[in-house]
Amino acid sequence: MAKSKFLWLLDSGHGGVINGEYQTGGKRSPEFKKPWGQLFEGEFNRGIVSRVIEKANYYGIRTVNICPEEEDISLSKRVLRANDWHEKENCILVSVHANAGGGSGIEIFTTPGETKSDKIATIFIEKMAEEFPEARFRMDLSDGDPDKESPFFIIRHTRMPAILIENFFMDNEEECKKYLMTKEGRDRIADSYIKAMIHIETRTKNLR
Ligand SMILES: [Zn+2]
Repeated sequence: MAKSKFLWLLDSGHGGVINGEYQTGGKRSPEFKKPWGQLFEGEFNRGIVSRVIEKANYYGIRTVNICPEEEDISLSKRVLRANDWHEKENCILVSVHANAGGGSGIEIFTTPGETKSDKIATIFIEKMAEEFPEARFRMDLSDGDPDKESPFFIIRHTRMPAILIENFFMDNEEECKKYLMTKEGRDRIADSYIKAMIHIETRTKNLR
């Protein structure tokens, strides 16, 4: 593939783990019986972003990890970093999360109204649905649940097309163990993103 049209900004929601200490309050699964233990959402998010970057490099798709630290970088700082890149490049932002609060499946958030982000979200949903035909999908809940203030912040304040993906529910024991806590599940999630990114790079016009 020629140089990719877009610079893909990847955002791992929340903090990671420093010296065995998770950097973010809450944002974790329940404790499951051994050998499973507990999932920290920020660790999962980083696992997906690092996989996506590795696979994207292989296909010549340009990426930037806007939160490479393990520290929980503030949302406003993440927005600044993303907007800085967008000054220079044609960017698309993908913010990676896992869901909680009782439920199942995958949700992709965009900002209110019909925007380029909706087209991107639709393609991600298509590719994720191919990979996970058994999963429930919900899209564009921008007029919905006000509890989701932090997921909305980054897509609202960044100036490029932006989507926020809630990959399954970490407080759903079956989904957490099947998709979020296994290498195989994480690889499948990252693969489905890559399929969407390749599709957007090669088969769409005028997304800017
Ligand atoms: Zn999150």
